[in-house]
Amino acid sequence: MRGYVPKYQLITPASLDEALAILADEPGVWKPFAGGTDLMVLLESGNLHHHNYINIWPLTELRQIEVSPQHITLGALTAYTDIQANPILRSEFPMLCQAASETGGLAIQNRGTIGGNIVNASPAADSPPALLAYDAQIELTSRSSSRWIPYQGFHTGYKKMQMGADELLTRIRMSRKTANCYHYYRKVGTRKAQAISKVCLAAVGSTLDQRITDVRIAFGSVAPIVIRCLRTEDALRGKTPGNQTTQLARETLVNEIAPIDDIRSTASYRLRVATNLLADFLEQLQLH
Ligand SMILES: Cc1cc2nc3c(=O)[nH]c(=O)nc-3n(C[C@H](O)[C@H](O)[C@H](O)COP(=O)(O)OP(=O)(O)OC[C@H]3O[C@@H](n4cnc5c(N)ncnc54)[C@H](O)[C@@H]3O)c2cc1C
Repeated sequence: MRGYVPKYQLITPASLDEALAILADEPGVWKPFAGGTDLMVLLESGNLHHHNYINIWPLTELRQIEVSPQHITLGALTAYTDIQANPILRSEFPMLCQAASETGGLAIQNRGTIGGNIVNASPAADSPPALLAYDAQIELTSRSSSRWIPYQGFHTGYKKMQMGADELLTRIRMSRKTANCYHYYRKVGTRKAQAISKVCLAAVGSTLDQRITDVRIAFGSVAPIVIRCLRTEDALRGKTPGNQTTQLARETLVNEIAPIDDIRSTASYRLRVATNLLADFLEQLQLH
């Protein structure tokens, strides 16, 4: 049953500073409300247990995309539509654009934000694997400080993350070192559109003299959090793509991920699809 709306409070600060001051004055009392695409589902189903929200959607300072020769930096409120429209993201970070284009339908893409996707912390979220494979960093800001941390390691367990009650996720930054990389993104769901992932792989790799020099592999929906598969990456670095390397990668990956049975799929299907996607990535990398 829908949550009883008069029990909820939503306040709109005039600036980022004011939002941070509200969070700092009463830590844990107020939570951010960005696009609301996750929060409104909880409200409609009567599962929105927290009652006080700060409407950060109008804070335009969190909606900028900044480009420097080294980085591209997205404000946390960047919507999926903005991601798909950005020429640098399209040419240098195609996996993020593809994830954005496969997230929900147009209404969700206009309203859902990259910051909300990260902090909502679903293991089945579609953009986080791309952010992990691109080695993204995130900025957490409170009234008294601001810190950049690697996105990898931010999620510490199911819906658990390294963020203080007085902090906002403000920006996401990626290094523009993707030239010569092969980018592979594949979301497997029940349908081609409007489906939650059963398995999602984002991987980048490069080769030199037929050996894998750099490889970054991240999966969604195969563990309690989106994960970067560092052991599989280590096993691949320096190897020549081919049948033997693919077999080694499959065997390493099986020990690195822990998919479960749930309403969307089974653990064995997820394991099989995950290893097949990895094999497909390696095959394409060889051809690249
Ligand atoms: C029909 C439908 C289809 C969907 N399809 C997909 C899909 O295919 N793939 C997918 O990954 N997701 C999907 N989603 C989920 C959702 O749209 C995304 O997770 C979206 O990015 C959430 O962003 P938001 O701004 O709407 O977050 P909100 O709902 O506003 O917030 C989500 C959570 O993040 C917190 N939060 C938001 N912004 C910040 C911030 N800057 N700092 C700190 N905390 C913050 C909020 O407090 C809340 O806990 C779908 C949702 C719906 C309703």
